[in-house]
Amino acid sequence: MGCPLNLTEKDPHWERLSLWHDTVITDWSPRAGLRGDTEADVAIVGAGLTGLWTAYYLAEADPSLRIVVLEAETAGYGASGRNGGWCSALFPASLSTLAGMSDRDGALAQHRAMRETVDEVARAAAAEGIDADLAKGGTIVLARSRAQLRRARREVAEARTWDRDEDDLRLLGKAEAQAVLRGTRTVGATYTPDCAAIHPAKLVRGLADAVERRGVTIHERTRVHAIAPGRAHTADGDVRARTVIRATEGYTATLAGHERAMIPVYSLVIATEPLSASTWDEIGLARRETFSDHRHLIVYGQRTADDRLVFGGRGAPYHFGSRTNPEFDQDQKVFARLYATLIDLFPALEGGTRVTHAWGGALGIPRDWCASVGLDRETGVGWAGGYVGDGVSTTNLAGRTLRDLVLERDTELTRLPWVGHRSPAWEREPLRWLGINAGLRAMTLADAEESVTRLPSLAAKVVSPLLG
Ligand SMILES: Cc1cc2nc3c(=O)[nH]c(=O)nc-3n(C[C@H](O)[C@H](O)[C@H](O)COP(=O)(O)OP(=O)(O)OC[C@H]3O[C@@H](n4cnc5c(N)ncnc54)[C@H](O)[C@@H]3O)c2cc1C
Repeated sequence: MGCPLNLTEKDPHWERLSLWHDTVITDWSPRAGLRGDTEADVAIVGAGLTGLWTAYYLAEADPSLRIVVLEAETAGYGASGRNGGWCSALFPASLSTLAGMSDRDGALAQHRAMRETVDEVARAAAAEGIDADLAKGGTIVLARSRAQLRRARREVAEARTWDRDEDDLRLLGKAEAQAVLRGTRTVGATYTPDCAAIHPAKLVRGLADAVERRGVTIHERTRVHAIAPGRAHTADGDVRARTVIRATEGYTATLAGHERAMIPVYSLVIATEPLSASTWDEIGLARRETFSDHRHLIVYGQRTADDRLVFGGRGAPYHFGSRTNPEFDQDQKVFARLYATLIDLFPALEGGTRVTHAWGGALGIPRDWCASVGLDRETGVGWAGGYVGDGVSTTNLAGRTLRDLVLERDTELTRLPWVGHRSPAWEREPLRWLGINAGLRAMTLADAEESVTRLPSLAAKVVSPLLG
C-alpha cells in the first residue's frame, strides 16, 4: 500500500525536519558559533537533551560554573527534537542485566529512578515555563495475536518476580484494552502508567532557552572533531575545560577515536493531519496514552495535543561504516510500511487520511544495548548515552547524575548500576553491517511469520541476542 504523503514545501529547512520542528514556536536562527580558543569549567559536546539537561542541573547546582555547550547544528537537531515523544520509565537493559552489573537492589533502584524521572521531567519543564504538551496517560501495548499475548503475559509474570506490582505494570483483558485503544485483532494488552506523551521540540528548544537564562553559553554550527582530556577541539578553536562531556549519541562514531563506540540505527516516523473527534472516538486514547503492540520490530505511537496520530518504527537499514546522513531520514519504503501498519491497526483511517509529515533520526546503540553514564576522574572526560530508543526521560536521569559526578557528590544517583558501565566496542566492518542488517530483516520476518502462524517465531529467538 502506498503512503499518501503530502508534505508541505515550506522553508527554511529546519521547519521541515519533523512535525515537531514544524509546529514549535522558536527562533531557528543559529546561535553564535565558537570563534577562537576559550576556557570553561565544563564543556559539553552536543545540545540534545543529554547535553542540555546536564548543563541545566549543573548551572542550577552551582551558578558560578562556566559552562559551554558546543553543537554541530542547532539545539534539538538530533533525536531529541524528532523522537516519538514517549517520556517513559523504559530503560534499554533488562532488570536481570542491571542486576548482573550490580545486584537485585541496584536493578530495582535504577527502575525506581526511571519511574521518578518521568515526573521530574514534568516538574522541571513546568518550573521553567516550558509547555511541551505533556500528558501522563501511561502506555498501552496491545497483544494482537496469541504469540503476542503470550509475550505480554510473560512480561507481566517477569515483572512480578521483581515485585513490580499492578500499579507498575498490569495485564489487561480484551475488553479493558479496547476501552483504551481499539486496534484490530486485539486480544489483550499490557499497561503501565509511567509514560507521558510530549512534544519533543517544545521540550528541547525550551530547555535550550532555560539553560541560557541560567548563564550557560551555547555555540551552534560548531562541530567538535575530537575530545581530549581538558579540551574539545573544533575547526574554529578549542574549548579548554577541566571537564568535557560527550553527549553525541547517534552521531558518536563521527568523533575521532569513537568509531566503534555506538552505532546509529534509524527510526522513522509519520504524522497524520489532525483527526476528527469522531475518528478519535473510534480509535480511543482519550488520555493521550502512548501505544504500541507486542510485535518484535518496535513500533510506537502517540496522539498529539492537536489530535494528530504520530506513528514510528524501526526497520530502516543500518548504513555501512556507521554513517549518518540527512538522506537516510527519508526512506519511502519504510514510510509506506508504517502507513500500511497504521491502517491495519486502525481501519478508520483508510480512505483519505493525509500524512502531513514523515521524518527520521538516528538512535545510538551500544554493543551490549546498555545505556551508561560516567566521568573518568583522571582525564575529566565524561559521557552519557546508548539509550537505544528510550532516551527522552533517561537523558534527564543522565543530566542529574553527571551533575553529581562533576561536583564529586556521592549520591543515590551516582550509585546506580549504569554509572561507569563500559560497553564493548562494536565489530569492525563489514561484520557489523552484515550482522545488524540480517538481524533487522529477521525481526521483520519474525513478525510476518507470527501474523500468519499466530505462534512465537523461531527466527526471533535466533536473532534477539543481537537486537536486544
Ligand atoms: C525517530 C526517533 C524516535 C524516538 N522515539 C523515542 C521515544 O518516543 N521515547 C524515547 O524515550 N526515546 C526515543 N528516541 C530516542 C531519544 O530521542 C534519544 O535517545 C535522545 O533524544 C538522545 O538525546 P541525546 O541528547 O543524547 O542525543 P541527540 O538528541 O541526538 O543530540 C546529540 C546532539 O549532538 C550533536 N552533535 C553530534 N556530533 C557532534 C559533534 N561532533 N560536535 C558537536 N555536536 C555534535 C548533534 O547535532 C545533536 O544535536 C527516539 C529517537 C529517534 C531518532
